[in-house]
Amino acid sequence: MSTGLDDTPATGPEALAEIRRTGKRALANALAEIETSRDTRATAALLDCALQTPQGFSLGLTGPPGVGKSTLTDALIRAWRAEGKSVGVIAVDPSSTRTGGALLGDRTRLTTDPGDPGVFIRSMAARDRLGGIAEITYPAMVLMRALYDLVVVETVGVGQSEVAISEIADMTAFCAQPGSGDALQFMKAGIMEVPDLVVVTKADMGILAERAVADLKGALSLAGSAEAPVLSCSARDGDGVAEVLQEICTIAALKMPKFSETRSNQAIHWAEDQIRVRFGRVGLDLVHSRHVDKFLPNPFSKAVTLQDELFRQITEVFL
Ligand code: GDP
Repeated sequence: MSTGLDDTPATGPEALAEIRRTGKRALANALAEIETSRDTRATAALLDCALQTPQGFSLGLTGPPGVGKSTLTDALIRAWRAEGKSVGVIAVDPSSTRTGGALLGDRTRLTTDPGDPGVFIRSMAARDRLGGIAEITYPAMVLMRALYDLVVVETVGVGQSEVAISEIADMTAFCAQPGSGDALQFMKAGIMEVPDLVVVTKADMGILAERAVADLKGALSLAGSAEAPVLSCSARDGDGVAEVLQEICTIAALKMPKFSETRSNQAIHWAEDQIRVRFGRVGLDLVHSRHVDKFLPNPFSKAVTLQDELFRQITEVFL
């Protein structure tokens, strides 16, 4: 099924409407387009439209490998679906840059029904951005946010990845495992102000989980960022998952008045990053100095236009 992105100059709204109409296959095609030819005008128009018409919100879910992120995501999907809400998941594979392989590999813990139109799961290789966040994760999230009530971006790590995920998602949750020293890692990384929510996983580990909750609350209050709630749950047994979901919704509702501003800033930041990656500081300074840096309301298209212009100028000088 064509997404209208191949060679036709379909407008963003038309392309987005077609994905809505045709469902998951069309979304998969559009995500493939984002990965291979993000700089085409049709893809940029689709992304601008998606940015302007969000259906839901996005949650960055991060934490060390083995902490239980996939199991929690799976439990959240089931709880969210039970409420009749749709969910998209982007699982960022951090290993591919170094090993060329897919350490996350085993996605079978996500036990969702592939025939369920209300769930879409996509794995993505982390490319050249720090912290395991793929350059394409942001546009993919923007597109999926226009199609699903909740988009979970699952990524591994403590440190840079929390910061990176908070630059693209509407809210960020950090997962910590009982008895693992994750609280200490968290403090050492100096990222206490980043998460909106901290989830201690594997609450079935009893006293260790309770201690982890206390340690993390202590760490957060020491850092002066005690507002982030610390919850525990056992995704394996289902205990506490409803409370985590409830908290996610509460935080989303609290942040909602600022979503528009934050999302605009994130989009500008991403667009500037694209220019910086291709043309360096000089290219970005050139854009700013000519006062052509008005990225809104169509930051994706604007980034393509500015890059075309910079390419043209460079070509004129050197050819
Ligand atoms: P991820 O690498 O962070 O995605 O972690 P996974 O979700 O793959 O889980 C890692 C391991 O922890 C697996 O063996 C899970 O079965 C186990 N696990 C996940 N959630 C729980 C839980 O709530 N309780 C217990 N006891 N084990 C869990």
